[in-house]
Amino acid sequence: MQVIENIKSIPKVQKYRYFLIILASMSLLGPLAFLPQLAGSDDLCGTLCMRRFYLYFPGMSWEDFFVHVNAAAVGVVAFSVIMLTTLFFGRMWCGYLCPVGGLAELSSRMLNDRWKIEFRSLPQVQIRYGYFGFFLVAMPALGISACSLCNFITIPRLIEAMSGEYRGMIFLVSSVGLVNLGLLLLLGVFASKGRAYCQFMCPIGAADGLVNRIAANLPFAHRIRIAKERCTGCNICARNCMCGAIKMVNKIAVVDQVSCMSCHECVDVCDWNALAWTTPPRHAINEPKRIKKNTEILPTPDWQAVHFDANKADAVAGTATRRGSVSWVSVFNVMILLTVVSIVIVGSFL
Ligand code: SF4
Ligand code: SF4
Ligand code: SF4
Repeated sequence: MQVIENIKSIPKVQKYRYFLIILASMSLLGPLAFLPQLAGSDDLCGTLCMRRFYLYFPGMSWEDFFVHVNAAAVGVVAFSVIMLTTLFFGRMWCGYLCPVGGLAELSSRMLNDRWKIEFRSLPQVQIRYGYFGFFLVAMPALGISACSLCNFITIPRLIEAMSGEYRGMIFLVSSVGLVNLGLLLLLGVFASKGRAYCQFMCPIGAADGLVNRIAANLPFAHRIRIAKERCTGCNICARNCMCGAIKMVNKIAVVDQVSCMSCHECVDVCDWNALAWTTPPRHAINEPKRIKKNTEILPTPDWQAVHFDANKADAVAGTATRRGSVSWVSVFNVMILLTVVSIVIVGSFL
C-alpha cells in the first residue's frame, strides 16, 4: 500500500521528528489539549494567540499595544520563547513541535506525489514578506480580522470535528471554516511537502524566519550549514527540502536561512556528509568521504559533472516537455494558484 511505502521511506531522524510533532499535537489540540487547559483555554486562540498582538491598527497608541499584549499574554510568552530558541538553535518550534504546520506536512507525506501541487519554485520569500506586511498593517487598516485566514483555529476545530464535537463541526461548515479548510488542503495536505501555508502565510513563521536569518552568523547560533568541499551538487537535498530553502549556486548547495526550518532532512539524505546542524564557521573538511555507502571516494573536479540535470531526469522518467511548450501540469498549477489567491481575497472579507 502506498501509504505504508511512504511511511517506510521516511528517514529515521525524521520519524523521531514526526513522533515529537504528534506528541505536541496531542498536548496542544483537543480532545486532550492539556497544555492550553493550564492557561484556562481549550484551543490556541484568546490568551494563547501568537498572531494578533503585534498588529498595527491606524492611530493605535502604546496603551492599545499593551492592551493587546495583555489579552494574549500566554501567546506573547510562547512567541518570545520560540524566537529565543530560534536565536540559539534554529527553528525548533516550526520544524519539531508546531501541530499546525507539522500535521499538514505529515498528511502531505502520506499522499502520493502525483496528487501534490509544487509551490516551492515560487518566489516564496517575496510572497511571504509581502503578505506579512499586508497582514501587519493593511489588514487591520481595512478592518479585516486576523482570524479570518488562520490555520491556528482551523486545525484545532478540525480535530474537534473528527472527535465528534459540535463546535468543530459548526466551524467547518461556516463560510470562514470552509475558506480555511480550502487553504489547509491546498497549501498543506495537497502541497508538495505540506509546508506552503508555513512558507507563504504564517506570520509566526515569517517572524521566526527573520530571527533565524539575522542571528545565523552569531558564534553560538546552531543552523543547518554546508561544507562546500564535500558537496557534489547532486541536488538531492534541494529536492527533499520541505521549505524550498536549498538552491544550487554554481553547482553547490546553499541554504537560505530565512526559509530553513532546521528539520534536518537534508542532512539525512545527503550521501556525502556535506550538511550539518552546527555553529559557524563550518570548518573545512580535508578528507571528504561518502559515509552512507561505506565507500570512501576522494573528490575530483569531475564531481561537478554529477550536478543534477532536471531535464535529463525528466527525460529518463519519460515526463519531459519540449522547451517552450506549456505542460498541463503548469496550467494546473497556475489554476490552483489563482484559486488560492481568490480564497485569500474572499476569506479576508468574510
Ligand atoms: S510557520 Fe507557522 S504554521 Fe508553520 S510550523 Fe511555524 S508556526 Fe506553525
Ligand atoms: S545532497 Fe549533499 S552533496 Fe548533494 S547537493 Fe546536497 S549537500 Fe551537496
Ligand atoms: S534546508 Fe534542510 S533543514 Fe532546512 S528546511 Fe530544508 S531540509 Fe530542512
